[in-house]
Amino acid sequence: MHEYGVALEIAETALKNAGGRRLSKVLLRIGDLSGVFAESLTMYLDLIFREKQKEPVTIVAEKVPARFKCACGAAYSPDKIFDPCPSCGGFDRTVIDGKECSIESIEIEDA
Ligand SMILES: [Zn+2]
Repeated sequence: MHEYGVALEIAETALKNAGGRRLSKVLLRIGDLSGVFAESLTMYLDLIFREKQKEPVTIVAEKVPARFKCACGAAYSPDKIFDPCPSCGGFDRTVIDGKECSIESIEIEDA
């Protein structure tokens, strides 16, 4: 149910930004490391939008792969989250990308 809370927050932000005009599309960026399942999130968002706005909203969830910067200087996107650095085999890394769960853009239909 974690995704429901996230969906509610995203829906409220998107509707607020639409400022009462009809929201037609929401583009999201969901990182591999965000801990959010894109499929569940879009399902909940669809339900919330149907309830709050009579017209449906197209929801597009763009997945962002995990990207790390290693202590050796290499930046990489592992096939699996727990794969080590491909250049030195180390695990001393920081996250560059993949933690986000945010609205990339919204589209509004002018009445
Ligand atoms: Zn390395």
